[in-house]
Amino acid sequence: MALTGKNAIVTGSTSGIGEAVARTLAAQGCNIMLNGMGEKSVIDGLIAEFPKKYGIKTVYSGADMSKPAEVKQMVADCNAQLGSVDILVNNAGIQFTAPVEEFPDEKWDAIIAINLSASFHAIKTAIPLMRKQGFGRIVNIASVHGLVASTNKAAYVAAKHGIVGLTKVVALENAQSNITMNAICPGWVHTPLVQKQIEDKAKEQGISVEESTAKLLGEKQPNKRFIKPENIGAMIAFLCDENGNSMTGEIITMDGGWLAQ
Ligand code: NAD
Repeated sequence: MALTGKNAIVTGSTSGIGEAVARTLAAQGCNIMLNGMGEKSVIDGLIAEFPKKYGIKTVYSGADMSKPAEVKQMVADCNAQLGSVDILVNNAGIQFTAPVEEFPDEKWDAIIAINLSASFHAIKTAIPLMRKQGFGRIVNIASVHGLVASTNKAAYVAAKHGIVGLTKVVALENAQSNITMNAICPGWVHTPLVQKQIEDKAKEQGISVEESTAKLLGEKQPNKRFIKPENIGAMIAFLCDENGNSMTGEIITMDGGWLAQ
């Protein structure tokens, strides 16, 4: 298994893409620090399931990604509890939609904090540890919205464009060390974050959830299929093993043709 003995933090791994990424890395032998919000029973279930199913060490950080001190503590805790931070996947994210003139200030602040600044704080704390050990792999989950815009997503699109820029800068700063940093830009992935948008649109337009789903895919994603979260996990596993050595500063789209249009 390519990642045996490596230690990874996956932020926002109690649901959706993050959980699938954590499972893919764990299946490759990587020890995991889980992180994220949600029901205690779900989180406890994951903490119990991972070591049994994948035969790896699993720890959990309840760090709130909107709080810089907690983000930094999460990285320090992984280093202390697992012994190193070899892989950092910045995935936690939230969404809120409204036209810019109606966009609540607190929603803007929360999205910028969780979807952008948390990655900065985690990266800033992890890089010195990775330099010392001479190895590091950082993957940021951006979005197609890191490269193009859609209406009503001012904060999300701004944060995701920011993370794309941050990815390139840190990749350059570490190009001569054995630390790589890349971003993945998925199109629609069927997770609770997207399900809420589908249901909101169905209500708004007086259509069924099925019609709303078809409309969402039809509008932007030419293959008209959701991207599988485990495919994103597989791409991250590739970036983290030997074959990913020369890939850094890459902005990798997985979008069913969204950006080809
Ligand atoms: P999700 O809602 O299923 O999962 C989000 C995760 O982030 C959860 O584990 C949640 O607990 C965690 N989280 C939220 N706020 C947090 C906080 N303050 N502190 C710690 N953890 C927090 O959503 P998802 O679709 O899996 O999204 C994951 C990432 O993928 C996000 O960055 C999102 O922007 C990005 N993304 C999603 C899609 C998509 O179509 N679903 C497309 C492109 C990019």
